[in-house]
Amino acid sequence: DDYYYDVAAGGMTTEVTQAIIDTFSQYVMPTYGRIAAVIVKGEGSYVWDADGKKYLDLFPGWGVSGIGYGHPRVVAAIKDQVEKLIHMPNNYYNELQGKLAQTIAEKSFPGKSFFCNSGAEAVEAVLKLARKWGSDKGKYEIITMEQSFHGRTFGAMTATGQPKYQEEFQPVVPGFSYVPLGDIGKLKQAVTDKTCLVLLEPVQGEGGVNISTREYLQQVRALCDEKDILLAFDEVQTGVGRTGKWFGYQQYGVQPDVMTLAKVLGGGFPIGAIHADQKIADTLVPGNHASTYGGSPLACAASLAVFEAIEAEGLLDNARDMGLYFIEKLNSLKEKHSFIKEVRGLGLMIGMELTIEGSEIPSRCMKEGLLLNCTAGNVIRFLPALNITTAQIDKGIEILDSVLGWIDEEHVF
Ligand code: PLP
Repeated sequence: DDYYYDVAAGGMTTEVTQAIIDTFSQYVMPTYGRIAAVIVKGEGSYVWDADGKKYLDLFPGWGVSGIGYGHPRVVAAIKDQVEKLIHMPNNYYNELQGKLAQTIAEKSFPGKSFFCNSGAEAVEAVLKLARKWGSDKGKYEIITMEQSFHGRTFGAMTATGQPKYQEEFQPVVPGFSYVPLGDIGKLKQAVTDKTCLVLLEPVQGEGGVNISTREYLQQVRALCDEKDILLAFDEVQTGVGRTGKWFGYQQYGVQPDVMTLAKVLGGGFPIGAIHADQKIADTLVPGNHASTYGGSPLACAASLAVFEAIEAEGLLDNARDMGLYFIEKLNSLKEKHSFIKEVRGLGLMIGMELTIEGSEIPSRCMKEGLLLNCTAGNVIRFLPALNITTAQIDKGIEILDSVLGWIDEEHVF
């Protein structure tokens, strides 16, 4: 994702914090626009910095700490497993990986999973699966969406339909084309007899919380069926409870042939996966694809604990209910601040589009103890933990309201 923070914005000046920042300046590549804060502790929807300042985090780890920081079930599962076995490579069987694949299949559709360590790596696996599937049919072209985001590795970056991510890394992977999300006519035009894959996020995250309609996804599914094309949903952000269902596609009643998962999947521990429908699940065979760390016992223990927590604590219902509550509260801010254009969301994947540039808002909120994100230049984005409460949402709204109030004063509308 893009980062918009000003390094100076956090206002941290203690010696400890400064020493850490200095070490970074000297030894860590400047690949991120970092906030000048060192976070040292997290619990539920709160984090603390090295100065002891507490923040309410409505964008925990870009959606990764999706059931809150340090969830007791995840912590216990990791502690228990770490003493038994951290890693074994995939040329041995591992009970927890089998259990996790079964859990994903039971909560989605009959099929098989492949495990890796990140969202981008999951996208790569989908691209390779589709190219292999198409290889004896003469199909290799891949269509993705404008404004999409699929990650930073070469294939995932090429799949990402935003020129700013590709410009300085040309030539990108051949065989990709891009169409606008929601325009079935443009997609039909882009399809050829060489198309092997259509890849999309059912709700675009980094692109600005752009929500597909049911009708559009049904049309895409029908087109892919008619033309013998695989349909993949990138569920790295929408998957594992984020939208109030186990997987985003379940909001639409449109099943993809394969989906990617990461973020909430590990509850903070790195794990990515793809899950493919039974009919294409044996496409990749020994020698085709691998990941040395993928699906380690430790990662799978963490992920199984996430599924258990979501189930045991009713977090799908909470995500749906809190999502509606949050959107209602944001809409009430819209009545007060004229530069709020639209509030949109699905479950706890929520965006508030502004008529003005919003990139300063996260750093201003941070000073007031609230963490959130701005994407696509003018969309304030929230991916709260699935166990967020009404009291926490109220507090977040209160801080946001005050920050937006200052902006009202500074701008003459
Ligand atoms: N796909 C989507 C939809 C994402 O939102 C992201 C990250 O934000 C990725 C892929 C890449 O995931 P990762 O950063 O784990 O590689």
